[in-house]
Amino acid sequence: TCHYDWIAHHAARRPEAVAAVNLEDGRRLTYRVFDRRIATLARHLQEACAVSPGVRVALLAHNSTDTFELQFACFRLGAIFVPLNWRLALPELDAIVADCTPAVLIYDPELAGVADELTRRHGIVHRLLRGPESPYERAIAAAKPLAAPHRLMHDDVCTILYTSGTTGVAKGSIATHGMNFWNAVNCIGVAVLSPQTVLLCVLPLFHAAGLNIYANPTFYAGGTVAVTRRFEAGEALRQLADPMLGVTHLHGVPAHYQAMAAHADFATADLSHVVGAFVGAAPVPVPLLETWRRKGVVLRQNYGMTETGPLILNLEAADAARKVDSAGKPVMHVEVRVMADAARDAAPGEVGELWVRGPAVTPGYWNQPEATRAAFAEGGWLRTGDAVRVDEEGFVTIVDRWKDMYVSGGENVYPAEVENVLYSHPEVAEAAVIGVPDSRWGEVGCAIVVRKNGAAVTEAELLAHCATALARYKVPRTAMFVEALPRSAVGKVHKPTLRHQFRSAVS
Ligand code: ATP
Ligand code: MG
Repeated sequence: TCHYDWIAHHAARRPEAVAAVNLEDGRRLTYRVFDRRIATLARHLQEACAVSPGVRVALLAHNSTDTFELQFACFRLGAIFVPLNWRLALPELDAIVADCTPAVLIYDPELAGVADELTRRHGIVHRLLRGPESPYERAIAAAKPLAAPHRLMHDDVCTILYTSGTTGVAKGSIATHGMNFWNAVNCIGVAVLSPQTVLLCVLPLFHAAGLNIYANPTFYAGGTVAVTRRFEAGEALRQLADPMLGVTHLHGVPAHYQAMAAHADFATADLSHVVGAFVGAAPVPVPLLETWRRKGVVLRQNYGMTETGPLILNLEAADAARKVDSAGKPVMHVEVRVMADAARDAAPGEVGELWVRGPAVTPGYWNQPEATRAAFAEGGWLRTGDAVRVDEEGFVTIVDRWKDMYVSGGENVYPAEVENVLYSHPEVAEAAVIGVPDSRWGEVGCAIVVRKNGAAVTEAELLAHCATALARYKVPRTAMFVEALPRSAVGKVHKPTLRHQFRSAVS
């Protein structure tokens, strides 16, 4: 058994250190105050909502420090925290709530309509409205602290995190306290988190990356987590440059760094005290890394997935210039393997599927024994579904998702490689490539491109640009221009939507 109450630990040692900053209203919560709020919230959930070990507690809310408060309150009760993606449509949330059957739903005023519907349809008994002067705040103010926190064990389920649904229906990935602990240790190692760390948390907190790269690990380390309600490029640049906030660490998706680089304040923003800037969750365009390098910020690539804690791979700053397109090497407490097929390990340089095993890997999907069985190979290896390549020195490059690869004239094409070339064109703001059916070649590439403001680059020019850098079979057959790409809540391009829209683009 271990001790998993990270907030209580730091509250006892350094009560006046700042645990969390709620950037929306400027609230700064010391470890003492944060710990007290968690303790009283837990008592309220126990007494008024009958929350006990194993009970699911769902949250339907925008980002705020309340998310972490509720998470730790659930942990103290041995309850299971389920943060919901508020951007989902009602039928999608319906399916998730039916899957995890929460006893309590905590929600934002703006989401009251959806919360009402979910409560009614699923017979949720207890609801708690969150926000300034809300029942949630009154409950925290009125309750006494929880007397005896639940004694947690390594394998106890702490959270159900629904995957992004990038490739299909979201699956509820189970996380245990042991997984969270090992992920924290892995993250502290690579990002060097400490009590001096101030993390700017911009990712949605209903996903693994938002919670665990590096927010929960920062709490483990006794640092400060500054939470934004929602990412906005100009605001993020101001927050990163704010000497009073003193942000040291940031993790974002490529779309965040693209939006900041395109912002008018990018050139002048002083980002000199940011020591750790990390990017991941989706294919990272190499030209984006160069833009940030010119600004003096070395972006380090991360790779992970909901099912793995999530952090698996991370690039050291010292290697970033030499191994530009790499996601680096495995973190300490994980085993990885690259499989050419189910029975053969890939040779250096050969593309294969990444398999992962270790103490931060999920035991499986909630209520989905079939999906769980399908995800694991013999020996307990989790199949990531991602195509990767490892070089002679052991650096891993994420090639793309297997599901996004297409075959043109018998040759495998990984869209991320083609997208990289499109991004190197000065007039391209955003690009996505998909395979579409073609009677002669099986499939051919279709590029969907967002031009930079005022840019007039043509389809023919873009295809010619691709032809200068890529083998012929990789050059898209067509390029279409759109105003914006369909993206998920975290900013990942939603390829199934594009495939549906552009299926018959070439005919
Ligand atoms: P779903 O599993 O529901 O289809 P998802 O796989 O997008 O959605 P997540 O667990 O949030 O859900 O994301 C993990 C995936 O994100 C990885 O499997 C990988 O495809 C992608 N990813 C993460 N980091 C990187 C990276 N550095 N480069 C490229 N892709 C990445
Ligand atoms: Mg996935």
